[in-house]
Amino acid sequence: MKNKNGSSCREIMDMIPMFLDSEMEITMQQQFLKHIKSCDNCMEELRVSYLFHESHRYLDEGLYFDVEEDFKKMLQEKTGFVNLAVRLRILLLVLICICVAVLMLFWTGIIS
Ligand SMILES: [Zn+2]
Repeated sequence: MKNKNGSSCREIMDMIPMFLDSEMEITMQQQFLKHIKSCDNCMEELRVSYLFHESHRYLDEGLYFDVEEDFKKMLQEKTGFVNLAVRLRILLLVLICICVAVLMLFWTGIIS
């Protein structure tokens, strides 16, 4: 099954361990989150994987560990981080363009 974002559920589900270990490239993570939010199947798969991934915390935090709340928080944090990283990347690109433009102006002797 493929949804409108182009990633298949199989691909997304294979990425879940990488996502939970934060070992995913930022553009990949963006695509991953986009798919997860529009696909109930993958969201459920991620939720279950997260539960296993974080299960050791039941031992540490006991009843105080609220998986549902924690899962939502984790997704929000990841989304926030991805958005920030993407914005920083665009900003960096703009800065590089400005530097190149200034250099070009120097080279062509328009400003000296
Ligand atoms: Zn899916």
